[in-house]
Amino acid sequence: MAMCRSSLTVVAAGLAALLASAVAGAQGRPGGAPPAAEAPPPAVLIRNVSVWDGVADRATPGQSVLVEGHLIRRIAAAIEAPAGATVIDGGGRLLMPGIIDAHTHLALPMDRPFREDPGYVDALSLQAARIVLMHGWTTVRDLGGPSQGLARAIAEGIAEGPRVYTSAAFISQTSGHGDFRDLTERHPNGGGVPDAFEHRYALLADGPAEVRRAVRESLRQGATAIKMMAGGGISSQYDPIDTTQFSLEEMRAAVESAADWGTYVAVHAYTDAAVNRALDAGVKVIEHGHLISEATLKRIKAEGAYLSSQSFGAARRYAARAADTERGRKGAQVIAGVDNLMGNAKKLGIPVAFGTDAFGSMRAYEAGPSEFGYRLRWFTSLEILKQATSINAKLLALTGPRNPYQEGPLGVIREGAYADLLVVEGDPLADVRLLEDPAKNVRLIMKDGKLYKQTL
Ligand SMILES: [Zn+2]
Ligand SMILES: [Zn+2]
Repeated sequence: MAMCRSSLTVVAAGLAALLASAVAGAQGRPGGAPPAAEAPPPAVLIRNVSVWDGVADRATPGQSVLVEGHLIRRIAAAIEAPAGATVIDGGGRLLMPGIIDAHTHLALPMDRPFREDPGYVDALSLQAARIVLMHGWTTVRDLGGPSQGLARAIAEGIAEGPRVYTSAAFISQTSGHGDFRDLTERHPNGGGVPDAFEHRYALLADGPAEVRRAVRESLRQGATAIKMMAGGGISSQYDPIDTTQFSLEEMRAAVESAADWGTYVAVHAYTDAAVNRALDAGVKVIEHGHLISEATLKRIKAEGAYLSSQSFGAARRYAARAADTERGRKGAQVIAGVDNLMGNAKKLGIPVAFGTDAFGSMRAYEAGPSEFGYRLRWFTSLEILKQATSINAKLLALTGPRNPYQEGPLGVIREGAYADLLVVEGDPLADVRLLEDPAKNVRLIMKDGKLYKQTL
């Protein structure tokens, strides 16, 4: 009996150790739920603010917002401060949701980062994340590049930055927009040990079987959604803009494999041919779309797909400077379509997601807020702010069970929502360009209930 008890004790101790390591493993798992913070931030009561919820056409003045832990607990005209709470007087200013960037690349902070020292590139990425957060941008959809480690460090509260919905490595066909090899470089699937480029930045896949493997590999690495290159791109050398990439069967394989994990495929696509093939395959999120016709845009709307596009305002300057290079010519080709796309989207009432497609230099992240002003050519300030908050949040939610943030909604100011919020000087609902100077006009930045800036 005694022996039996002692061996039971050993078994119990072993099981406890196993469970403890399983719990630790679950917390560290890429793409898994973020671990609970060691100590929740103290309650914060922000009084005397005009609340814009990210959805309504106007703000509600004379409100108080109580934040407890990571969430907004109460919104009311008068709220008694709980014991120990930090109390902030908003001075009647506007309180609004933190901004969401629907398309960025925090892990591509320099040109061809896969040719550089990984530690240096990661340091730049971390700094890019800080820059973005201090704009008042509290969440990003990261659409390609190895941002999963950064996403995890931010979720664990170790690194400072926005919440990151990572797609991990791009998935590209051979000679697609994710194939950045020089002409003399061997194909990574041709045998031997895959290099850093292959595993960290892009997975080259040809044929449905390879595409399935690439999608599953990305999901294993922590991708919350899959990013596929469905047509030619600007920054890659050997795929003209007009090329259509991946066959219907390949793209269907990707959509099915992503759906098996409860998530979706977003495609990089500029042309009618690329977008229509993606829609044929069941893709629900189109990135860019700058060269598509009104008919294709109508199809996107009719099928309930999403358009995540950019004004490429900052890229205009680059394309002008690089006009005599192949990249410059490709850039100009795409930029020529921006007016037509955005004008048609406005006319058809399509809720274009707000994004920057920032990558390639630290300047790209610093210039992110210029997207607000460029969009004024086609949309009102209110429309742009809805795109950058509640509309973008719908895209984030398409990740279903892969959504790393499931305690409440993002992109809205509502009881039970994540406490990602800004207090802003002036009225950005009337002039969104106020958010182009966040150092001056964004007076308070809170993410996940924690204050990152407080100048009130
Ligand atoms: Zn792209
Ligand atoms: Zn991109």
